[in-house]
Amino acid sequence: MKVPFVDLITQYRSLENQILPAMQNILEKAQFILGEDVELFEKEFAAFCETEFAVGVDSGTSAIELALRTLGIGEGDEVITTANTFIATALAISYAGARPVLVDADPQTYTIDVSKLEEAITPRTKAIIPVHLYGQPADMDPIMEIAQRRGLKVIEDACQAHGARYKGRRAGSLGHAAAFSFYPAKNLGAYGDGGIIVTGDEQVARSARMLRNYGQREKYKHLMCGFNRRLDTLQAAVLRVKLGYLDDWNNARRRHAGRYKRLLDSTPLALPLEADYAESVYHLYVVRADNREALMDSLQEQGISTGIHYPIPVHLQPAYQDLGYQSGDFPVSERYAKCILSLPMYPELDRDAIVHVANAIKNFVNGFVVEATISEDVFVGQVP
Ligand SMILES: *Cc1c(COP(=O)(O)O)cnc(C)c1O
Repeated sequence: MKVPFVDLITQYRSLENQILPAMQNILEKAQFILGEDVELFEKEFAAFCETEFAVGVDSGTSAIELALRTLGIGEGDEVITTANTFIATALAISYAGARPVLVDADPQTYTIDVSKLEEAITPRTKAIIPVHLYGQPADMDPIMEIAQRRGLKVIEDACQAHGARYKGRRAGSLGHAAAFSFYPAKNLGAYGDGGIIVTGDEQVARSARMLRNYGQREKYKHLMCGFNRRLDTLQAAVLRVKLGYLDDWNNARRRHAGRYKRLLDSTPLALPLEADYAESVYHLYVVRADNREALMDSLQEQGISTGIHYPIPVHLQPAYQDLGYQSGDFPVSERYAKCILSLPMYPELDRDAIVHVANAIKNFVNGFVVEATISEDVFVGQVP
């Protein structure tokens, strides 16, 4: 039995009879740039996030960068995020002209360690970008409290968390602004690149609309040096169809996570922990295992593809050597980068596939514990 890491084809087949007419409608109107479908999708996505405004852009990275710019953040400013994230979070800060300042990950949730946040704040700090990593919201209440007290803006990197909830509230409605990505493999994915800025702040929304469209509000009157970063209209048409299924897909991911948990609880793997404040949408199902490489190889031999998200923390990336961080600065992120493994996770995954993955892991573990040791810190629930 083969289990791919993600499967975008099965979903397309199931929606083909709605996707194709939606795209055809755009082609027949020849309305390729902005227009009705982008506007309607923005309204629908803002409503989905239980907030007021949404501005479609060309990627999640652009959404973060433009959100920073709308808040007046740039040259000479520092923006705090976590070492344990996809590089795009940090790159967007750099694109805006600001400097990324990193904080380690919480060992239980993998999201930003709130207890280490204040010590990273300097007089130059202007904003915090918590990342709702793997689909689980960061602990937003204490983050917002610190931000309020220190006069900082908060932009949620919700690129992996469409539909997730924090204390009942949707990701995207928790900070001053939020960024989502519609990269094809995200929980809500386009058929190409796309992203969106979501906010309750009308000023931010207005400014984002100008920034994505050459700095103009009226045609050919340019109030600022904006960009061409619009959400593609064909993608908006696709996303409007898919948004109607997002809650169902997220529920399916949560069921799969529950099944993985039941089947893998008895193994030495450390399983994802859902914080009591969180309803994760399991963009990724990330476990920790010693001898991760051997486990990965063994699963591949048994027909199962896995991934690593992410193998190198931001501060150890060659691209970011100039930030001046060193190995050892963020011990949780560094240790986890060596033992995390993402198991197959997508809504269309079926029961048999999950059982196959769990059995393959058990085969490996049983053949493996005899001759190798599994260190304490990867056990379920253990805090390093
Ligand atoms: C995907 C992702 C991004 C970037 O989104 P793109 O649409 O690929 O630009 C940013 N942050 C995180 C956490 C992501 O997973």
